[in-house]
Amino acid sequence: MRKPLFFLAIAVVLTTATVHVAQAPPAWFGIAPPAGIGDPHRPILDVSALKPAPATVLSGEEKNVDLSGAAIRRDLDAIVGFAKADRARGEKAWGRITGFRGADDTHAWVLQQFKAAGLRDVETQAYTATQATWHPKQWQVRLLANDAAGPGARDVILESAFPTSGSQLPSGPIIGSLLFVGATTDAALPEVNVTGKIVVQTLHPPAGAYSERTRTTERARELAKRGAIAVLNVIEQAGNMHVRDFSNCGVPCFNLGSDDGRFLIGVLQRANGAGIQARISLDTEMLDALKGHNTIGIVTGKRAEEIVIVNAHADGWFDAAGDNGDGLAVLVALARHFAKPANQPARTLLFVASGGHHGGGMNGPGNLVTMNPQLKGKAVLVLNLEHIAQLRFQNDPFRVEATEQPMGFGISNEAPAIADAARRGMQRYGFALRPNFSSSIAGDLGGYAPLGVPRVQAIHSGPMYHTSGDTLDTISTPGLERAARFYAFFVNEIARTDRAALQPK
Ligand SMILES: [Zn+2]
Repeated sequence: MRKPLFFLAIAVVLTTATVHVAQAPPAWFGIAPPAGIGDPHRPILDVSALKPAPATVLSGEEKNVDLSGAAIRRDLDAIVGFAKADRARGEKAWGRITGFRGADDTHAWVLQQFKAAGLRDVETQAYTATQATWHPKQWQVRLLANDAAGPGARDVILESAFPTSGSQLPSGPIIGSLLFVGATTDAALPEVNVTGKIVVQTLHPPAGAYSERTRTTERARELAKRGAIAVLNVIEQAGNMHVRDFSNCGVPCFNLGSDDGRFLIGVLQRANGAGIQARISLDTEMLDALKGHNTIGIVTGKRAEEIVIVNAHADGWFDAAGDNGDGLAVLVALARHFAKPANQPARTLLFVASGGHHGGGMNGPGNLVTMNPQLKGKAVLVLNLEHIAQLRFQNDPFRVEATEQPMGFGISNEAPAIADAARRGMQRYGFALRPNFSSSIAGDLGGYAPLGVPRVQAIHSGPMYHTSGDTLDTISTPGLERAARFYAFFVNEIARTDRAALQPK
């Protein structure tokens, strides 16, 4: 549906231009340059009027103040603050990134919260990355104001540009002519010569950009094989977000936000292949032996020797409010709640703020299992809190609603007793789970596989996933409370369910 709109817009401009055929084309063909990245800590759409329904507080549960939305929101604010501080220090690829200060500060904060809550054996365990980490330091994608761009044109910097993982320009900046080659969903690449060109393609993810990974990177690699010197992926969502996704393009590859993309493609279609050029610079480093961290703490249960692990990954890209600030804030809330003697669970709970979810060779859960061999045999279940309270964003048209993003609930062994506990929790608290549960546990649970116990999570991957649009204001405060009350109930139920029912033979 979009392409006809693009062409319609171009057609209208073309018609207008034909009327003034005697005049020189205006700068950038009269297309207004994009506004830039703006304040990336603000949401990409106005969410100020959205008021999700308040959380359900059942009679007798008002006293569970650690689970209130307002309390969790304060912690989420602090967690997102570590990412904002990272950007304020000058990190262009900011976040709470494992191996960097934003993540280290987050773990120090979690450690403090666990200690203050009265958890036992609180510590931050460090481990070393087993592979080098690609780190983009500086970059720029600049459209050059040459004759083809029209008289009076000035260079336009595409501020949303974000290099895809592994991209490098070891010989310094490159300059090349730009060429638009259509959408990743087109049946085939156009029969054009891309040799020496900076090639532009569009993709249109229905949810997060991750869903277009295969198509986008395979097409980029094909373009690289045919001689393109760089690929720009225009991601059709909203505004001018950074999108951190894709890798292994074959040539340096950058993702562009929607506004930059609209301008770029508009100009290229008007120029009709005539000499629009870009200069691309990219300064990266490969960092060896970075340190990752897991921060852990224990609440002793009535049956002390059996353990339920409750995990949330502490790292994230950009502000990472929904991936995974929300999960981490709820983890801290649950730790405070269960640490109170009145709320002692039937089994021991091990709370884990894990590292390295987004970093290669630094997986937190995998290292936790290796570094704490006593968990094998004692652990009975692992629960993962990940992406659990974001407002519902959708594409086509791009919009946001006053409710939470629906989440898929996954139970690795599909044990009926676990599903039953979750369904009862859903009914009690209105947690936004999709009705059909599955055995899919794509997320932070992979590293726990060696424990050989059921692994459980709710998760979504909405349009804000891995973008700079994943900001504090996109998180539903009642949604945080729904998640916390649901998980407090669920953990209690799991803690007192027989092991044979959790893991039927
Ligand atoms: Zn995540």
